[in-house]
Amino acid sequence: MRASQGARPFRCQRLAHRLRFLELVNAGVQPPSSPLPPRLSLLLSCPRARELNFARGNSEFEMKVDGACHCVAIAFEASIDPQKVRICHCADCQQLSGTAFRVMVPCAESEFHLVSGNPKIYIKVAESGRRRQQAFCGNCGSPIYATSDEPPGGRTLGIRVGVLRQRNELVPTRQYWFRSAVPWLPAMPNVVVHGTQ
Ligand SMILES: [Zn+2]
Ligand SMILES: [Zn+2]
Repeated sequence: MRASQGARPFRCQRLAHRLRFLELVNAGVQPPSSPLPPRLSLLLSCPRARELNFARGNSEFEMKVDGACHCVAIAFEASIDPQKVRICHCADCQQLSGTAFRVMVPCAESEFHLVSGNPKIYIKVAESGRRRQQAFCGNCGSPIYATSDEPPGGRTLGIRVGVLRQRNELVPTRQYWFRSAVPWLPAMPNVVVHGTQ
């Protein structure tokens, strides 16, 4: 779709309001205060948004995010793919997060940078013997990320989306371990369900 055809009804209706915002930015009505919100990356299914995204030089799959724990002792910056936000309903995630499910997004360790503080690590040992590092703030208890219990370097961190400043823009695309989801949870029709991993 070309920019000149902007009046044509947008196919992805649930994202239309976001596109409208981008059009305002594009038209100079609402100048971007910082680099254009990377939530553009969420609109990959929309040709018009993709066009705008590329026009601004943003990578299709990269979004810069930043976050902090509740007491702000720990702060970090990271680069993630917003298409990979996921929910986990497993019992460990319910217990470790203290709520009904966990929302996370993977991040290459090399793309995660601590700005302040140092998380504490709790090693979770699964029934299978698999060990996972759970990084959290030792002062306020906010979960920061989880990763494999291996030497640092090439690991993948599962960043806890709730500590990200951009959390409202990060929409889950998949949910795992749905068979242990709490029974009162409303259906999320746009989020693909996996019974287990
Ligand atoms: Zn804290
Ligand atoms: Zn889980």
